[in-house]
Amino acid sequence: MGFFDSFSRRVCGLAALSASSWLFAEPGDYLGLDVLSARCGGTVSYGDGGRCGTVLGKDFELQCRLDDVCYCLNGVNVYGQCVVAGQPGRLRIGRDDWDRVIVPLLSPPTVAPPRRICVDPGHGGKDSGAKRAKGNLEEKNFNLDVAKRLEVLLKKREIEVILTRSDDRFITLEDRSAIANDAKCDLLISIHFNADESPQAEGMETYILPRQGHSSTARLNDPNADDKEFYVNNRHDEKNLYLAYCLQREMKGIRFAIDRGVRRARFRVVKNADCPAVLVECGFLTNSRESDRITDGNYRQAIADALCEGICTYGGLK
Ligand SMILES: [Zn+2]
Repeated sequence: MGFFDSFSRRVCGLAALSASSWLFAEPGDYLGLDVLSARCGGTVSYGDGGRCGTVLGKDFELQCRLDDVCYCLNGVNVYGQCVVAGQPGRLRIGRDDWDRVIVPLLSPPTVAPPRRICVDPGHGGKDSGAKRAKGNLEEKNFNLDVAKRLEVLLKKREIEVILTRSDDRFITLEDRSAIANDAKCDLLISIHFNADESPQAEGMETYILPRQGHSSTARLNDPNADDKEFYVNNRHDEKNLYLAYCLQREMKGIRFAIDRGVRRARFRVVKNADCPAVLVECGFLTNSRESDRITDGNYRQAIADALCEGICTYGGLK
């Protein structure tokens, strides 16, 4: 069960509104939670000394936190582009985030069922990717394993699968998106496992390309971030977001998995893909607990299952 299973544009008064008619009624770049909740017939409540706000609508729950840039929409973390402003008990969220992140997820785009999907096992050959601290295990092999498991699942759904590699070989990042484009794939899913200097870092992330002129999630506070270029994949901004949301929602549902959210980065593998494209980071090899799970084939199968489910939700194949 999930949000989109029961959701329709018709039942949600908020989403039925066009994103332009009233969102700009209030002056300034931010919208108060009280205004938003009133407009959608919902209620607003606060916790944590007023620093955490919740808007509860008919079919959705939106949580946000003062000075934070990550929203929780129906239980899934999604990074926006604007830090939540206001004062405790009177939070205001960026109008652009509301318009371009939250409303599109409450009222998702119409999507044709994908018939051909490019599954990209990250790294390969001389490029090992992240390494597990103990046991000398390499990311490239886990990526390929999950990709092959996903291939089996998608083929059972009669979806054609193009793997960018089916063995341990090096492929450039540009060639990976070129493979997807040449085969006219409907989606590109690049599969990775993560690494961090901190052994505490743990959990699942799904990355999409930032919108033109917007910063990557990791550089939101960097005034020198140069993010002005329009990439081919920016044609698919709205579908990228919805696909990432569907995948992240399923991955966070895996037992023990931690939700690190839908994020944005200009990864080379996605930015030139002329179809909706995501890069999933399925856990940290540098976290001993998580890497123990990743070495378990049952856990990797659960990841592949989640990715397949997310794709099917996205494509209306359920
Ligand atoms: Zn990687």
